[in-house]
Amino acid sequence: MDTPLDPASDTLHRWLTGPRVPGLPVRTADLPAPKLSFEFSPPRTEALEQQLWACIKRLEPLAPRFVSVTYGAGGSTQARTHATVSRIVQETSLVPAAHLTCVGAVREAVDQVARDYWNAGIRHIVALRGDPPQGTVYTPYPGGYPFAADLVAGLREVADFEISVAAYPEVHPAASNPMADLENLKRKLDAGATRAITQYFFDTSTYLRFLDLCLAAGITAPIVPGIMPVSNYAQIVKFSAMCGASVPTWMGRLFEGTEEDPETRRMVGMVIAAEQVRLLQANGVDEFHFYTLNRPDLTYAIAHVLGVRAAASSGSA
Ligand SMILES: Cc1cc2nc3c(=O)[nH]c(=O)nc-3n(C[C@H](O)[C@H](O)[C@H](O)COP(=O)(O)OP(=O)(O)OC[C@H]3O[C@@H](n4cnc5c(N)ncnc54)[C@H](O)[C@@H]3O)c2cc1C
Repeated sequence: MDTPLDPASDTLHRWLTGPRVPGLPVRTADLPAPKLSFEFSPPRTEALEQQLWACIKRLEPLAPRFVSVTYGAGGSTQARTHATVSRIVQETSLVPAAHLTCVGAVREAVDQVARDYWNAGIRHIVALRGDPPQGTVYTPYPGGYPFAADLVAGLREVADFEISVAAYPEVHPAASNPMADLENLKRKLDAGATRAITQYFFDTSTYLRFLDLCLAAGITAPIVPGIMPVSNYAQIVKFSAMCGASVPTWMGRLFEGTEEDPETRRMVGMVIAAEQVRLLQANGVDEFHFYTLNRPDLTYAIAHVLGVRAAASSGSA
């Protein structure tokens, strides 16, 4: 005779009556490894320069499609961005992409920066409007490129650059409405950009819905997900509030109690980003852009999880 189960005390009964979640599929060895790109920021000090170059050297064997170097707000890092991308050309096997913005400069000056990049052997530009100084509202610079779409069109006139632009799965904070933002993205691609890289997001369904909207709007270029591995939760909460990316409640719960424990925090960040990229990969996404923050470890490990192996042992994935 069966003994009736007491759901309150019977552990296995509780486990067996919960929802069943199928595991994420693992990439099979015959599929090509995903294409990656890594984003770096130009260093402000000698110590940060060493950190950046250690990061670049660590990630170089993963053979990303390109590595991009940001352009500080208001063009404040123009010389350092240029120095960094030039050194990447000269000293590594990597293909650099230089970020370039419209802020605070007339068109001729921006065109000259682009020409200097071309002359230094840089063939890829991430074309952005850029942000105004903190606490101010963006207004186009007199005689400058007003928006990123205008910059893309201008760059097309300067040289035959490969051009990437920014996309916002959660809508750019200054957009008048989501449709206007999507039309803007289409304008940037129609003006000559070949791919968009997204602002980071943590809710994968938001990105997948955004892809549907892009396709419905007639966009067919790759909308490469920007992946932000988080090792400093408090910092990312602050930064996300500024750039309009939302931080889901579940993420706060996962980091809860790690405020004084950076090692655990990093491991939690690793798990979150690994789950995110595996979910994206299970949904067919095979291109990823990593915001490295000039730290290689999480990016390297997540790339490994995705099936990317250092050049010496490629093919064994
Ligand atoms: C992958 C990535 C890399 C980035 N790198 C940098 C960097 O290196 N340096 C930096 O300073 N910032 C960088 N940013 C931040 C970016 O500069 C800001 O998000 C900026 O606020 C918008 O730039 P955008 O190129 O998307 O602008 P745009 O595409 O020009 O859009 C900006 C806003 O204006 C609206 N808009 C566009 N055209 C018009 C129009 N004609 N009339 C009215 N509204 C319009 C858009 O809907 C949007 O709300 C980056 C962002 C991403 C996603």
